[in-house]
Amino acid sequence: MRQPSGATYVESHYTLTSISPITTDTAFAIDNSSIHFGPGVTREVGFEMRRLGSKRVMVVTDPRLKDSRAVGITMESLAAEGVDAVLFDGVEVEPTDVSFKDAIAFAIDGDFDGYVGVGGGSAIDTCKAANLYATFPADFLDYVNAPIGKGKLAPGPLKPMIAIPTTAGTGSETTGGAIFDLLEMKAKTGISDRAIRPTIGLVDPDNTDTMPAMVAACSGFDVLCHSLESYTAMPFSDREAPEDPGKRPAYQGANPISDVWAMAALEMVAKNIIPAVKDPTDQAARSNMMLAATFAGVGFGNAGVHLAHGMSYPVSGMVKEYVPEGYPEGHAMVPHGMGVILTAPSVFRFTAPTNPERHLHCARILGADTRGASAEDAGDLLATTIVDFIKELDMPNGLSGVGYTSGDIDSLVAGTLPQHRVTKLSPRPIDEPNLQRMFQDSMTLW
Ligand SMILES: [Zn+2]
Repeated sequence: MRQPSGATYVESHYTLTSISPITTDTAFAIDNSSIHFGPGVTREVGFEMRRLGSKRVMVVTDPRLKDSRAVGITMESLAAEGVDAVLFDGVEVEPTDVSFKDAIAFAIDGDFDGYVGVGGGSAIDTCKAANLYATFPADFLDYVNAPIGKGKLAPGPLKPMIAIPTTAGTGSETTGGAIFDLLEMKAKTGISDRAIRPTIGLVDPDNTDTMPAMVAACSGFDVLCHSLESYTAMPFSDREAPEDPGKRPAYQGANPISDVWAMAALEMVAKNIIPAVKDPTDQAARSNMMLAATFAGVGFGNAGVHLAHGMSYPVSGMVKEYVPEGYPEGHAMVPHGMGVILTAPSVFRFTAPTNPERHLHCARILGADTRGASAEDAGDLLATTIVDFIKELDMPNGLSGVGYTSGDIDSLVAGTLPQHRVTKLSPRPIDEPNLQRMFQDSMTLW
């Protein structure tokens, strides 16, 4: 039978019939926050919080944003609807267990019945943790991903939470993940549980007006990697079946519905990332990047990400002296989106042989000329296309540009191996020599 043109999403990538005996998963779930999108939508937070029945809410943000318009409108809107709101502005950018615990202690003391996170992924993730531990108190490591923590799930539903993102990157308003640095291990890890997904995401393009160029670039690259990694992740139908449906992970592997969101996000990123970073007055481009972040969030929140994220965690966690432009001064950090994009070219060279058509499809959407390209070209084509974006947006030239040398590779590998939640979704199994090679290849990109 003739294939209709454009049938690129589903292909024959998934096994959608059950085979006996069943050892791999045969079903997937799509969960999402309710998303309200549009300029000015922040002012609906009071109405929504009251509708959800909350009377006393904790508003979580970082010190840089505490006097911002987004936080101001949030506080006014809550007050106007008679909702008592208390501001917590102690969020750390790239949060740690210590800053999570500060927010949790504040939440427990405050006896809140609702939560609002205003800011980048750091503020929203901190808010999720505050809600989780204040609603169901536990030892800190209980809910943290295994093998670093115990990976327990919340025993019931949490209090209502509204997320109001002010950067166009993490998609945290749509996901059940919260990422932080565990200081004693110098490791980035997280909490992953559908229960911590915000009830509502208010996605307001007016809130990103003031983002510095480097922040816009890093958050845009995070979106790019969310869509590329979720689309190229191991298919859900290749993942081991859960013991019972309750244990099916939020990060399930690529599936036909997450694919649609990932590719819609990728198209929007391809068209908008450069104008959004280079021209802060281009409101249409910034608004589209915000929408793309949410689209990608729906995709990766249900499919997961893989090696670029897994390898970025030690890159950010073990930072030495690199201080990026436009981020709070004096604080050494490799922003999350920078960590993922600098490892992405070597990752896609490694994963392309498992599904070259998907890698070629991504390269084509990002603007590569794939006419006449063969399966063997897929990894290189996607990698070089990504490097063109990295150069164009003035990112450092690989991991050497943020202070790493070959002497750090063993520690970077050791920091990646425990990131099972994402590394196990790699479409190609990894081992230490493979990771070493990918880190080596990421040292200099051009
Ligand atoms: Zn990310």
